[in-house]
Amino acid sequence: LFISFEGVDGVGKTTQVERLRTYLEAQGRTVVVTREPGGTALGQAIRQMLLHGVDGDSADIAPRTEALLFAADRAQHVAETIGPALERGEVVITDRYLDSSLAYQAGGRELTPQEIRNLSMWATNDLLPARTYLLDMDPALSHSRLQHEEDRMESAGDDFQSRTRQAFLDLAAAEPNRFRVIDASQSIEQVWLAIETDIAGLLQ
Ligand code: C5P
Ligand code: MG
Repeated sequence: LFISFEGVDGVGKTTQVERLRTYLEAQGRTVVVTREPGGTALGQAIRQMLLHGVDGDSADIAPRTEALLFAADRAQHVAETIGPALERGEVVITDRYLDSSLAYQAGGRELTPQEIRNLSMWATNDLLPARTYLLDMDPALSHSRLQHEEDRMESAGDDFQSRTRQAFLDLAAAEPNRFRVIDASQSIEQVWLAIETDIAGLLQ
């Protein structure tokens, strides 16, 4: 079973991923928790480049380069981590997957969703999650909850963040069977309850 969490920065994806891990492990399942970018050693190096640039110069990563770096991270992630775990029959939960690329690299920047989708489907050999939880929230609010200094991607501006949020919502509307949209401005407990109810149904 392959599950992804999506949403703009600071909506609480990591917290809910851990909740879900605990819940599934309590049922005796083997769970692999991972994330993008940076789910593998190679991916960690790519993540550094994406978030902080090279040699401290984070100014210019061209949009196509950025899309390819995310796709390269994802290709390695599927080949090295996600694919083998699924083949062993384990549950994989990833904090971000290809919808982040569709929302950020296509929704927020200048590339088209179709280009990014084709690139990503090629990179992953067409692997899609069975379920995607979109934690939805106004980025102006979620960003104020971030505990760390903003990285290159997070400091991209309010407009960019709102377009990204809308892009996520559009993706969810286009694939209602895969997505569940959850209001992430609710309490952690309420958000978890929505996920728990859904996953219980999914596992039946
Ligand atoms: O979720 P995490 O903080 O690890 O993501 C790192 C940064 O990369 C975030 O600021 C996120 O907005 C950005 N990102 C992106 N495109 C992706 C995945 C993440 O712009 N495909
Ligand atoms: Mg972040």
